[in-house]
Amino acid sequence: MFTERIYNFSAGPSMLPVEVLEKAASEMLNYNGTGTSVMEMSHRSKAFLAIFEETKELLKNTLAVPDSHEILFLPGGASMQFSAIPLNLIGKTGKADYAITGNFSKLAAKEAKRYGEIHIAADTEDQNHTYIPRQADLKFSDDASYFHYCANNTIYGTEWDYVPETGDVPLVCDMSSNILSKPIDVSQYGIIYAGAQKNMAPAGLAVTIVDKALAGGELPYTPIMLSYQTQIDKDSMHNTPPTYNIYMLGLVLKWIEAKDGLVGMAKHNEEKAKILYDYLDESALFKGCAKPEARSLMNVTFVTGNEELDAAFAKEAEKKGLSNLKGHRNVGGMRASIYNAMPTEGLEALVAFMKEFEAKHR
Ligand code: PMP
Repeated sequence: MFTERIYNFSAGPSMLPVEVLEKAASEMLNYNGTGTSVMEMSHRSKAFLAIFEETKELLKNTLAVPDSHEILFLPGGASMQFSAIPLNLIGKTGKADYAITGNFSKLAAKEAKRYGEIHIAADTEDQNHTYIPRQADLKFSDDASYFHYCANNTIYGTEWDYVPETGDVPLVCDMSSNILSKPIDVSQYGIIYAGAQKNMAPAGLAVTIVDKALAGGELPYTPIMLSYQTQIDKDSMHNTPPTYNIYMLGLVLKWIEAKDGLVGMAKHNEEKAKILYDYLDESALFKGCAKPEARSLMNVTFVTGNEELDAAFAKEAEKKGLSNLKGHRNVGGMRASIYNAMPTEGLEALVAFMKEFEAKHR
């Protein structure tokens, strides 16, 4: 039993900012004098449409989304986009290039294979996904409809430190676990997509930012809900969109804005991650899994080298309110997911506990 909030290091759904939760709670029963909760509103109501427009505008401003691109709020999480992307884009040449740097890019490529010929431009499995391929290592095919990569590998704790150059081939990026963590140049991408449950909102919503020039060429059997052109034409309202999640995203975006936007987030995230990585570099017991140059600012993976000790660590940490530190079953060890909403104090508490644990188990 905890009487106060824990530090939740879960990979997602994960922590939301306290200020956001408090604001949502204060508006739960009566949103802005409407006498109703946002959850209970028609998606076509004036009050909800105002929330929808404001959220879209906030996201457009925060990420500096150019007018060439449309923001879509879609159901089905990031995994639904694994299908939507080939269905909408692969028709151009019947082929696409995928870089595999972890579990989710592998799943994305596997799904895309159902719809066309998939060429693997890089695969980091040879070193258990502990590194990021360099630009020179990417093997592109001649006629790919698009190139897909995952900017941050949630399970393995690696993050691309550059944006791949693909010439005229549209760049498609899964940013589920690092969107809104730092500034990006949206104009470099054909499509950016992300599940909301890490840096944006509760689970169930995916945000897709699509270059409008790429829509309209979907395969004939594409389910209508997955057609980007339909969703653009209907402003994400072909059906009832995940309304409450969109409202929550709006609150999160206001929180980010008040913290100096994505420049502020990047600074905050670098400072936070440094606390843990610095300790991992000096510790005699704990060791970081990712190659230093590939380290993620969002998911930090580490081990003691002894599985029993790893399990004991996660278990003891849990009791202290340092929650969900057990690594993903594919990797083992530990993983601390430290998205935007994880405060610096959470990292300080984690490292203090790690030091205590190390002193006991040296
Ligand atoms: N891509 C990445 C990078 C992820 O971390 C996840 C979920 N952890 C997914 C895709 C799948 O997301 P969803 O559960 O929203 O389908």
